Amino acid sequence: MKIALIAPAWHDPLWESEKEKSIFPPLNLITLAAMTPPQHEVTILDESLTDLDFNEKYDLVGISAMTALAPRAYEIADAFRERGTMVVLGGMHPSALPEEAIAHADAVVVGEAEGSWQRLLTDLENGQLQAFYRQEKRPSLEHMVIPRRDLLQRGRYLVPDTVQTTRGCPFACSFCSVSQFFGHSYRFRPVEEVISEVRDLEGEVIAFIDDNIVGNPAYARRLFTELARLPRKVKWFSQGSLNIARDEELLRLAAASGCIGLFIGFESLSPANLKAVGKRVNLVDDYRQAIKKLHDHGIAIEGAFVFGLDEDDESVFERTVKFAQENRLEAAQFGILTPFPGTPLREALEREGRITNNDWSEYTISKVVFEPKNMSARTLQEGFNWAWQEFYSLGSISRRLGLAKKHAAILWALNLNIRKRFNHFMERLRAGNLGLPQPSLARQ
Ligand code: SF4
Repeated sequence: MKIALIAPAWHDPLWESEKEKSIFPPLNLITLAAMTPPQHEVTILDESLTDLDFNEKYDLVGISAMTALAPRAYEIADAFRERGTMVVLGGMHPSALPEEAIAHADAVVVGEAEGSWQRLLTDLENGQLQAFYRQEKRPSLEHMVIPRRDLLQRGRYLVPDTVQTTRGCPFACSFCSVSQFFGHSYRFRPVEEVISEVRDLEGEVIAFIDDNIVGNPAYARRLFTELARLPRKVKWFSQGSLNIARDEELLRLAAASGCIGLFIGFESLSPANLKAVGKRVNLVDDYRQAIKKLHDHGIAIEGAFVFGLDEDDESVFERTVKFAQENRLEAAQFGILTPFPGTPLREALEREGRITNNDWSEYTISKVVFEPKNMSARTLQEGFNWAWQEFYSLGSISRRLGLAKKHAAILWALNLNIRKRFNHFMERLRAGNLGLPQPSLARQ
């Protein structure tokens, strides 16, 4: 069969890629391609880099979507199905709401694809396609396939080498989709298999696409030790929780193995907020010390903060930005609390009748889609806008980064790029046209 696997493009200026170059390739799709038996021909279509041709003939189109991308995924699915092409949907959003997704597809893969995908292909060839494919138990990460990087236009990604070492997270924050998708298990690949994959990569910089690379410190220690032993030195970045800063050996090994940056969810400066969302790994009193330790080891930090939690009032924006500036975070991502489908947060807000918007295309963490408790929705949106503008003002970038910092040129480029995206976001917000493009914008 001729199969196209599609990653829909973002149409929010904060997150969309440049048409010439995207940051990361779709690791999920090249992994799926590697699970596909060799008699099938697979094409990867990353819509952020290429226009889709709905008249191209495929036996099967597979589309993976997070919540904000679901409306675009459904448009693409509908356009292919109108022309008689079979479509399967999967990923975070279709897994959370399979009954919604099946209205736009011939089949939905719920949860992780290992096993389900191969069964689906066999059923399709035998004319026995079912509507839903679910796994009975979570797949082991032993002997995982090696992603089909040969199917990518490598030169069109800033960081083409992405690798997954773990799935899930040992924590279960109420606003996060990770535990809902991967279950409450934290699974990891055998270290030697990760190392073997890394050894074959071409690039010098690797992004470990994990939700929490230090979720199991013993595993992380083994992984970092082996990375440091590689004859070819690599640099890497990933997402991790703050427990790394409480473990001196883990921190030292991370730095020695080439860690140059971590995306860390601080989420809130309020212990009551953290308790309410179940982020027990974060201790606000430790934040400053933790940041200092990471910086002392040469590890840059992109801090993530959420606005609109129940303890937040209108003072939260200034306090948070000041904290991020004083501690010289190299980058920050401010997000508006967003009740993603399937999360405990959504259930709670639904019970309280506080969800005001069910248009998934607005679930970009940059727009208010619920009724905040201690401020108006307008105050929350304006505070969010202000925080980005202030943090990425030229004066703020200059004070945070200076010129002496390690990797100053890269960090300046990163900050200026985010600043440009945010300015574009504000222009579109003011013009009131942040909706998704109509399907006619894609090539028919
Ligand atoms: S620690 Fe991070 S990845 Fe883990 S559940 Fe919380 S928000 Fe999600």
